[in-house]
Parts: sequence; C-alpha cells; structure tokens
Amino acid sequence: MNLHEHQAAELFATHGIRTNGGDVAFTPDEAETIARGVGGPVVVKAQVHTGGRGKAGGVKLATTPRDAREAAKAILGLDIRGHVVSKVLVAPAADIAQEFYLGVTLDRTRRQNVVMASAEGGVDIEEVARERPDRIVRALVDPFLGLHPWQARQIAFALGIPADKVGGIVTIARQLYETYVAEDATLAEINPLVLTGSGEWLALDAKMSIDDNALFRHPEFEALRDFDAEDRTEIDARQSGISFVKLDGDIGCIVNGAGLAMATMDAVKLHGGEPANFLDVGGGASADQVAKAFGLVTADPHVRAILINIFGGITRGDIVAQGIAEARQRVEVTVPIVVRLSGTNAEEGQRLLAEAGLTATESMDEAAAAAVRAAHAA
Ligand code: GDP
Ligand code: MN
Repeated sequence: MNLHEHQAAELFATHGIRTNGGDVAFTPDEAETIARGVGGPVVVKAQVHTGGRGKAGGVKLATTPRDAREAAKAILGLDIRGHVVSKVLVAPAADIAQEFYLGVTLDRTRRQNVVMASAEGGVDIEEVARERPDRIVRALVDPFLGLHPWQARQIAFALGIPADKVGGIVTIARQLYETYVAEDATLAEINPLVLTGSGEWLALDAKMSIDDNALFRHPEFEALRDFDAEDRTEIDARQSGISFVKLDGDIGCIVNGAGLAMATMDAVKLHGGEPANFLDVGGGASADQVAKAFGLVTADPHVRAILINIFGGITRGDIVAQGIAEARQRVEVTVPIVVRLSGTNAEEGQRLLAEAGLTATESMDEAAAAAVRAAHAA
C-alpha cells in the first residue's frame, strides 16, 4: 500500500524527522487560504502515488497566496503518468542549499534492510543508479541489530558532508530507519533531504510503501487508503477475501491455493499464453467465491478465455463443480471456460460440470494448453 507524500511526512514527523509541514487543498480556494496562513512563499505539490512530479509540472513555487491559487489551479486535474491530481499539498517553501537522497528498503538477495544515500538528491534515484551507480552509498542493516550510529556516520562521510552537519544526518538516518521498521514499510524515502541556506536539515519530500501483509498490525492505515488511486478490481478482491493481482495477458485464471495459482500461470506461459491475472479464491471454492472470481476476471476486457484450476483436497470436487455451475448462472461469462478438476471427488465433479455444459480435464497441462488455444482462437 502506497502512502501520499503528506501522509508519509506526518509519519516521519511523529518519528522526529523535520519536514516542512503544510496542509492539503482540494481546490484553488483552499490552497490560497492555506498559503495566506503560511504567510510567506509556499510550494504547491501534487499528491499522487508516483514520483517525478517536479518534472511533470506537479510541483510549483508560489510567492503570494494569489500565486498559490494559480499554481493549485494548474496542478489540480493534471494527469501525471496516469494519476489524475485531486489534491495538492501547500507547504512553506524551503530555501535549499543542497539536496540529498536518503532511503531505506529491503535487499531481498542479502536478506537485510539497506540504507541508501546520495549527494545527487532531488533527481530520480533510479536514474542515478543507472548512470552513476558509484554516487549511491549503501549500508546493509542487520534487522536484529538495527542501524548502528557508525554506519550512519560512514554514509555521511562517504557523501562528503561537512563535520558539523554529520550529527544531523546521522539522527535523521536512524529516525528514518526507525520509521521504516515501526510502520512495517517496504520503502521509506526522503528525496530530497536538504540542507537549507541557514544550515538546517529538512525532509522536503516523503515517500512510503507499507507491507500489505503487515496491515493487520496497523488498522490506522485503513483510513489513509486512497481508493481513487488503486486498481478498482484489486479493492473488490480484497473485500471478498480473494488474492488478486492484475497482469497484462489474456487468459483469466481462477485457482484455489496461491502455490497452484503460480504454477497455473507458469503452465499458461509454457504453452505460449499470457495470464491476465493471479487469482487465489482461498479456502473453499463456494459458488459465492467462484461468482466473485468470475466477476473480477471478466471485468478485464482483455480476457479471451478463463482457466479454472482446482485441486480438491479438503475442498471436495463435486462441491466446487456445483459452485462453478451455479456461479456461471449468476454471472454472464461470454468467453470460453476451461476447467481442470482433480483430487477428492473429481469424477463426480466432472460429471456435474459436463451436465452444466462445461468440459473439465484432470490434467493441468492439457487444461492450460486448451485455454491458450481457446484464447488464440477467440
Ligand atoms: P518529486 O519530483 O515528485 O520527487 O517531488 P519533490 O517533492 O521531490 O520536488 C521536486 C523538486 O522540487 C525538489 O527536488 C526541489 O528541487 C523542488 N522543491 C520542492 N520543494 C521545494 C521548496 O520548498 N523550495 C524549493 N526551492 N524547491 C523545492
Ligand atoms: Mn522527490
């Protein structure tokens, strides 16, 4: 789950990091009012779940409340790489002397957290990583030991930060790491972290992604969810207890079990097809769940065939077959459906499916091949 800049900045602030504050405006009027309250130059920033807003015209400086109003007018409604701006952050403008990058994320291959920093702040860090990888310094952090002060100092020295400013960035690095761990983030990033003209450290941007698997520990984040910015189908799926990830192919997959769902996608690819989604109906495949799954899969106009892959273990094949037949009566499905059903009571299930006019096979490989053929023929 991604947070907006103003939400991430608030979390940073609760962990002691100095940000430039500000308030959110949904209209140019509100932006003007906030700017008047600030009583000095402000920066007006698009609140969308994507970076590079500056380059796209989503960040503007304004010297007067009138200017702030005009800036908000220009930014609201802007389309930044598919994200339409519906709110802006209006914050006191900072006087920047130098911009840095500071971020924490997980290094999966090293199985440790990694703190990254660069003196090439403000710009797209992916670009720095590509073109001048030597300009990014890293410290791997043992999750049980946390970020040691000496590691943070080493980063500061590598960036060439003047001695009297080292203490400041060391504190911020430790606070950022603390935020990352405490909030169960997969990414916590400040870009740019600036030294102001008066020599103070200030977080001018805030980016955070929260680990979806840890959201149960943070009920407070539910209120921060931006439904407009998320994929509608994925929201519906979450509410139905179905794990669903939209992909770019044309074969809709409905599977019981996450491992089998991954294997199904592999089988589709092996036969030259492309899965349109990952979908695990979870637990029992009742008529209700299958109907919801049909709804999710057919909401994608690219889907040309549906592959249902059920392995009956505790879930009985005949019950699943009934569920599929019943769901198909409830949800109109116009694309071909291929079913693979094996395991407990599979034969009975296949008989029921045949009665419902669906062909089912016992072999996953055959079913995947048939689904790919059906999609290509469509
Ligand atoms: P991003 O482009 O989406 O990462 O948005 P940022 O919030 O990082 O802003 C982009 C750039 O705008 C920053 O790197 C700064 O150079 C500039 N900027 C942002 N806030 C201020 C500010 O308060 N004062 C000044 N002078 N520049 C700012
Ligand atoms: Mn930024």
